[in-house]
Amino acid sequence: RKQCMKISTGSKQLDTILLGGFETMSISEIYGEFRCGKTQICHTMAVMAQLPREMGGAEGKVAWIDTEGTFRPERIAQIAERFGVDPEQACDNICVSRSLNSEHQYELLDVLAFNFCSGEYRLLVIDSVMALFRTDYSGRGELAERQQALGQFLKRLAALAEEFNVCVVMTNQVQSDPGASALFSGTDGRKPVGGHVLAHASTTRVLLRKGRGEERVAKIIDSPNCPEREATYIITNGGISD
Ligand code: ADP
Ligand code: MG
Repeated sequence: RKQCMKISTGSKQLDTILLGGFETMSISEIYGEFRCGKTQICHTMAVMAQLPREMGGAEGKVAWIDTEGTFRPERIAQIAERFGVDPEQACDNICVSRSLNSEHQYELLDVLAFNFCSGEYRLLVIDSVMALFRTDYSGRGELAERQQALGQFLKRLAALAEEFNVCVVMTNQVQSDPGASALFSGTDGRKPVGGHVLAHASTTRVLLRKGRGEERVAKIIDSPNCPEREATYIITNGGISD
């Protein structure tokens, strides 16, 4: 039987509220406004996933679906240095695919399934999951169609996570809906896009926001085994930290 593993985020506080980090064999979602650190957490985890277990890693390779063109090998190299890893090797262990539209994003899962057969991959980053679905199905009348395509993508994704013992971390954008404040306490109405289809697929959801000064705040919104708690973190040259 496959044993699920936890991958560190780089922040001890955030790891603590996640009971060790984000899990393999499931889908986690990080959402929040622009510049709150979603992509930076992904970069940090892409290095952490390669580290030994005792350092919060999973001794694995990383696949990365980049839909916004924000993957930066230079950042990987800087984060690798923080953990004493060879920067070049850290970059070589990350297989990045630039996705061009939502159909292509779905087709990339075939490529990943093939690569994951090697058994070496432990982390899949999707940054971001909804961007291309939102541009491809932007008309009002296209929402049902979008949600159907999204559902197919996520179903396949969940199967990959389970079958290959991979941690899927996807980022997501927020929609500001003041009316939702009452429903989601402590979120100021910030809710992830993607509706029920995405909510159903994400096992763990973490909301990021800016705090005081350089501080950022992460809050667990929805998790089967973690209580709703907050953690603060900062973004450094070496990635996410306390
Ligand atoms: P999001 O993906 O949520 O839009 P990012 O993950 O791109 O946001 O985070 C952007 C933030 O990260 C910016 O505030 C930027 O200043 C900060 N940042 C990027 N690189 C570094 C670095 N090397 N050191 C410190 N902060 C950084
Ligand atoms: Mg980003």
